[in-house]
Amino acid sequence: MSGARLAGTALLSVGTLPCLGFGVFGMLASFEVTGAERWTAFAIYATIEVGMLLGLIFVWRWALAPDLVPGACGHCGYQLRGVGGDHCPECGATIDEPR
Ligand SMILES: [Zn+2]
Repeated sequence: MSGARLAGTALLSVGTLPCLGFGVFGMLASFEVTGAERWTAFAIYATIEVGMLLGLIFVWRWALAPDLVPGACGHCGYQLRGVGGDHCPECGATIDEPR
């Protein structure tokens, strides 16, 4: 993982927090509406909320993934130069790409 990638992701997360807050307020406010519109409003806010959360999870998974450098294990990022065998000594993943 790289520091710039982590810093950018942290900044993005902090920027997204107010949006998540507005989404929660939107869901709460949708209960002020009566009739069928209530559930339409709730569904819209809930969809946006879940979408933002899934987006954040996706971005954090990307930010925390090991850097794929040539000659490194594709699973854990361990440098495989000079390592014999077909399994990563660090995580045990099968090495299938040429080194
Ligand atoms: Zn590995």
